[in-house]
Amino acid sequence: MIAIYPGSFDPITKGHLDIIERGCRLFDQVIVVVFKNSSKTPLFPVQQRIDQIRRSTQHLPNLEVDSFDGLTVTYARMRQAKVLLRGLRVVSDFEMELQMAHTNKTLAHDLETIFLATSTEYGFLSSSVVKEIARFGGPVDHLVPQAVALDIYQCYAKNPIASVPTAAEPPQIQPEASPTEHRRETPPVLGE
Ligand code: ADP
Repeated sequence: MIAIYPGSFDPITKGHLDIIERGCRLFDQVIVVVFKNSSKTPLFPVQQRIDQIRRSTQHLPNLEVDSFDGLTVTYARMRQAKVLLRGLRVVSDFEMELQMAHTNKTLAHDLETIFLATSTEYGFLSSSVVKEIARFGGPVDHLVPQAVALDIYQCYAKNPIASVPTAAEPPQIQPEASPTEHRRETPPVLGE
């Protein structure tokens, strides 16, 4: 059975990687699909995100990485995938994920959304947390695969403008927020 794991992965974190590895144990094939998301300005272009995921998942023979611009259900149909894999971290993820799963069900009745609960150690982790730390010069090696950490350090070193919050991408983590209070990075999508 083929499962697709859609997201923005900007960048991939160890939390994503954990879901991918577990998905690869459950399904014959997992396709990580990097969706373009016009509602926010990404840190990394799609192709670089794909490269980062590929470099981080070389140990997984039944994994493929792809990108798509459109509805997730369209991509799933194209690839004959029957499962849409998503991760759940905190209760706030659930509301959005359930809405998306129900909406997708109205578009593709034979596509099942399967949720994997985050591993305890990654419950706080999101791409935006990683970017927030890196923006202020903090270490992210423990949060993302090694190759990705290097890209992030290079990106912020080369592009100090990225360290200035913009209207398009305001900081989402307030210093006083507890780890369990983080907001999800995007409204998850029917196709980002
Ligand atoms: P989106 O932009 O749609 O939130 P992401 O790339 O951030 O996409 O995440 C893709 C999927 O991975 C989502 O289902 C999200 O809940 C899940 N996910 C992200 N971080 C984690 C984590 N630390 N643990 C488990 N699942 C996660």
